[in-house]
Amino acid sequence: METLEFQSEARQLLRLMIHSVYSNKDTFLRELVSNASDALDKLRLETFRDKDLVADTSDLHIAIEVDRDGRTLTIRDNGIGMTRDDVIGLIGTIAKSGTAEFLQKLKETKDSAASQDLIGQFGIGFYSSFMVADKVTLVTKHPRSAEGVRWESTGEGTYTIEDVADAPQGTAVTLHLKPADAEDHLADYTSTAKIIEIVKRYADFITWPIRMAKEDGAEPATINSRKALWARPASEVTEDEYAEFYRHVSHDWNKPLETIRMHGEGVFEYQALLFIPSQAPLDLFMRERKRGVQLYVKRVFIMDDCEELMPEYLRFVKGVVDAQDLSLNVSRELLQHDRHIQLMRRRLVKKVLSTVKSLLADKPESYETFWREFGGAVKEGLLSDTENRDAILDIASFQSTQDAEKQTTLAQYVERMKDDQQHIYYMTGDSRATVENSPHLEALRAKGFEVLILTDPIDEMWVEAVPGFKGKTFQSIAKGQVDLETEDEKAQAEERQKEFSDFLAWMTTTLTDKVKEVRLSSRLTTSPACVVGDAHDLTPTLEKMYRAMGQELPPVKRILELNPGHALVTVLHKAFAEREDHDGLAESAELLYGMALLAEGGDLPDPSRFVRLMSEHLERAL
Ligand code: ADP
Repeated sequence: METLEFQSEARQLLRLMIHSVYSNKDTFLRELVSNASDALDKLRLETFRDKDLVADTSDLHIAIEVDRDGRTLTIRDNGIGMTRDDVIGLIGTIAKSGTAEFLQKLKETKDSAASQDLIGQFGIGFYSSFMVADKVTLVTKHPRSAEGVRWESTGEGTYTIEDVADAPQGTAVTLHLKPADAEDHLADYTSTAKIIEIVKRYADFITWPIRMAKEDGAEPATINSRKALWARPASEVTEDEYAEFYRHVSHDWNKPLETIRMHGEGVFEYQALLFIPSQAPLDLFMRERKRGVQLYVKRVFIMDDCEELMPEYLRFVKGVVDAQDLSLNVSRELLQHDRHIQLMRRRLVKKVLSTVKSLLADKPESYETFWREFGGAVKEGLLSDTENRDAILDIASFQSTQDAEKQTTLAQYVERMKDDQQHIYYMTGDSRATVENSPHLEALRAKGFEVLILTDPIDEMWVEAVPGFKGKTFQSIAKGQVDLETEDEKAQAEERQKEFSDFLAWMTTTLTDKVKEVRLSSRLTTSPACVVGDAHDLTPTLEKMYRAMGQELPPVKRILELNPGHALVTVLHKAFAEREDHDGLAESAELLYGMALLAEGGDLPDPSRFVRLMSEHLERAL
């Protein structure tokens, strides 16, 4: 027998379970039954794929055994089981991505309702046994191992593991229940009535039989109805039943935000039961993140995270698709090329998007939750799913200068557009504050134009790729020329341009290794200067992103715009006109450029030089 230590994250989680901050302790049974059901699915699949695998699949089921005197509860399945390495890897460690973040957040939350929420979101699985048991024994055998394994732990730091010769196929988890008078007021989990109640509530839809002897010495009887939820008429299924099924497929303990049912008839028959979660998983933006839709064929589980059924940008959608006309041993390769699957996927995607659209119309609070949690992922679809681009734009919402509290949809923005406004104005940046304080916004604000504030990294990418919304193009206010002037103003501007032309030419030459042009601005009212990109240049953020990804790029030079109405600019212009020798003004030009960079929250190439020049100038002036 070997004694091993739990991985440190696992130890922390176990401690949480033992001192159980989670109030609904009945859920431990749901977790164990759910694991058993998955194990039966896996064994059936394995025997399909590998004809040489020696396993008995004639009576796959889950058995619950109660020992009142010994105060134990055993959940047994004759499924796939685990090898010794599996047990150490799966039960002794927590490999879930996002564990570190989860534990960190948990440490930071002091109030217990919030920690319950977090635990619910993370899902504790097998470890939830320790909410009700002070010792857990697991005996398991995998069909490819000659021997079985016995694992045991009190959940405190270590576990023991040993080989056993006569383990039956599958896994048995035995909980040595905490004493009945423990201070947590545990329900009596040796009561068969209590067990039946929990199974009915949490696991009725499990399609495998769950059997239990209702009285001592009685024959075990099936205690769940085994009906696949998606095959029952929608009117008969309660919201609670959907919620429990959602928990089973998603391993998320929260309620779903929205439930979607669909079916297709005709040549290719299918039923789908999909869920939109109410909270984004911690690993939504991690690369190894899986898709959430399972494929069944005629009620038989075929595969998890079926990429062919849901595009990556909808990876948070969970649920089941049951297709009637596929072969049970269908492979991923086959799915990829199956025309019916492609058609079905298109319908599923459209249905998810239209469901969100109806949330937007009918349940604004749910919509806001949806967009807050998943908007970042959905916007990836603007790049990857051109077919549904308009549908995605329809359900997107953004921050805007219109209202600091509430996001706006594009339809609402367009509705508010001024009569002569041609474009949907936007500006990208790290935060609302940087955008709001940027000089680029000045003239638009002065003239009362609304500007979308785009602060997600993905925003930089899609606004470049998406031509427009309802015939209005997207126009960055930090790029190109912003055309805000009336005819009179234009004439005036031309006049000024002539007046300043020598000065601008000199500025351009002086700053030639920093900017590609110096010109007069129509967007500034109170700032002296700002830097803008050319219409087709990379934005500074994108430039940074590409460099971070290791791409070689020539330096992207931008344009310096001067506010001809600002005293600093007029004084410099005057000095330029009056003096023969312009070299002494070069430092002032450089300072103006540095100020423009700082104003947009950018980095100065040489901050100490900037400070030195600035203090010399101040000294002279004072
Ligand atoms: P989760 O089910 O969320 O992955 P768990 O902690 O409940 O997390 O289980 C971890 C892993 O241990 C499972 O993914 C599964 O591979 C394995 N496992 C748990 N219970 C069983 C079982 N009854 N039979 C076979 N494997 C199991």
